[in-house]
Amino acid sequence: MISPSTAVLLYHHVDPHDAIKPEVFDWQLKYLQQHGYSVVSLDELVQGMKGERDLPKKSVVITFDDGFLNTWVYAYPILKKYQFKATLFMITGLAGNPSTPPRFNLEDVLKRKCQEKDLYRRGHIFHPSLSERACDPDRELPDFLTWKELKIMEASGIIDVQSHSRWHSSVYRNEKIVEFHIPAFINRKWPIEGDCRLGTPLYQRGSAMATRKYLGDPLLAETLIQYVHRHGGEDFFKGKRKADIDKALMEVVRAYKACHKVEGCYEEESSWQKRVKTELLESKQDIEKHLNKTCRYLAWPWGEYNDTALAIAREVGYEATVTTQRGANVPGGDVMRIKRVKIWKPGRLAFVLGLLIHTHAAFARIYARLYGQL
Ligand SMILES: [Zn+2]
Repeated sequence: MISPSTAVLLYHHVDPHDAIKPEVFDWQLKYLQQHGYSVVSLDELVQGMKGERDLPKKSVVITFDDGFLNTWVYAYPILKKYQFKATLFMITGLAGNPSTPPRFNLEDVLKRKCQEKDLYRRGHIFHPSLSERACDPDRELPDFLTWKELKIMEASGIIDVQSHSRWHSSVYRNEKIVEFHIPAFINRKWPIEGDCRLGTPLYQRGSAMATRKYLGDPLLAETLIQYVHRHGGEDFFKGKRKADIDKALMEVVRAYKACHKVEGCYEEESSWQKRVKTELLESKQDIEKHLNKTCRYLAWPWGEYNDTALAIAREVGYEATVTTQRGANVPGGDVMRIKRVKIWKPGRLAFVLGLLIHTHAAFARIYARLYGQL
């Protein structure tokens, strides 16, 4: 007989404007209920993996990443209907003001306090909002949960709030230039660090929790900025396709490299470690302060981590962390590297097969070997 594994499902949005619509989510939970799956909490899974308790054969953990408002509006009332628990990994720096009253959700529709059309509609401000909130802590981000909504969900016993870092931020990870700062990015502050002059090179990014920051060659940046300036500034970009702009500016990079050594460098290992420690600790403290509980678990932003980051997470008090790697979660398994299954398509067959595979350790391992990271 194949030994069992616990399937940890990873959701982001449950929303009428997303692949996982409320009715799709409802169907999935009904399927779990009708086909003998046991929804267990993350606490129970961690205890099971440590050998401190037995888990049912067909066990499933439900998780949400990021903390979008639609978790409150749609997912939470549906989970409540089935009395299924879930863990919500919150980007704590993005949680709204604790004095903001809770917004309407599906329960209010059922109680006739509002109509379905009054419910929140998802915006598209996720990425720009990250750096803007970091610069301006009072800025309201309507797409994210508030502390009051988190508090109500936590108090219900249905939602267990845990950490997804404070800012979910990314940094330049190496010297590979992927694009340049163009006028269309002026309101998109997210990928641009420091110098916001047109023509600034933008490098490949990675999670701030898993990579030392690359500091690009200032002379190369200056050369590109001056080139754009000499060729009309904003006018340089007018009527040009982005691919052509990138091509022209890459030519400037090539010319620069032909006669200069690129003088980029990486931040010190110690400053990277300090950054990770501060971020992980502050996020844990945010949850503990606002929700009056111990925050024990962390989901790595974009699933990116390394051995040092894991050691830091352990040091600041996280007892387990979840990844975006596929695989099996079994007794004796590594609780610092809990595996997950991403639910991001509405197809019923994919959901059923995903459950079947990930509740059987051998199938889950084979599948992970074939398809790796989520
Ligand atoms: Zn995330």
